[in-house]
Amino acid sequence: STAVTVPDFALVVLIGASGSGKSTFARRHFRATEIISSDACRGIVADDENDQGATPDAFALLSAILDLRLKNRRLTVVDATNVRAEDRKRLVEIARRRHALSVAIVLDPGEEICRMRNASRPDRAFGPHVIRNQMAALRRGLRGLAREGFRQVHELRSEAEIAGVTLSRQR
Ligand code: ATP
Ligand code: MG
Repeated sequence: STAVTVPDFALVVLIGASGSGKSTFARRHFRATEIISSDACRGIVADDENDQGATPDAFALLSAILDLRLKNRRLTVVDATNVRAEDRKRLVEIARRRHALSVAIVLDPGEEICRMRNASRPDRAFGPHVIRNQMAALRRGLRGLAREGFRQVHELRSEAEIAGVTLSRQR
């Protein structure tokens, strides 16, 4: 199994294409109140978790919640694809202002698995190029994660490695 230790006060950024298992991973390893997702925020601002037009407002809300939780020294997990450096940088900047360590957890079970899983999700009916592009963006950015300000980078490279994670917290 893969041991992943995160500081008990941290920003945890999940990074992975649609279908990579971010929401499943978050539910398994963190408390419901510790997780903020772009989908839930779209739902709150637009009554529709899939309304892409609501994305800017959803991320404004997500950023506000993140900032307030870190102000209160609460560990916070951001469940969004986060495959682009500019998306991650806004999150890391908030963490820096609140003196929280930033941790990246990369979920990469492979493009084929992401595609197969999404095929059975009625709310993820986008073309295969979407996942291919997300995967390409993710892999381009991997090398730079430390430079972006992530103090820890955990890369999970297969379905088995993701399933085998033992997560613990450190003071
Ligand atoms: P999105 O970015 O679209 O929200 P996601 O990364 O949050 O995707 P999940 O919703 O966690 O992905 O998982 C996608 C689908 O794959 C779900 O239907 C989930 O039940 C299933 N799934 C997740 N992990 C596994 C696994 N280890 N084995 C089998 N199915 C899985
Ligand atoms: Mg999800």
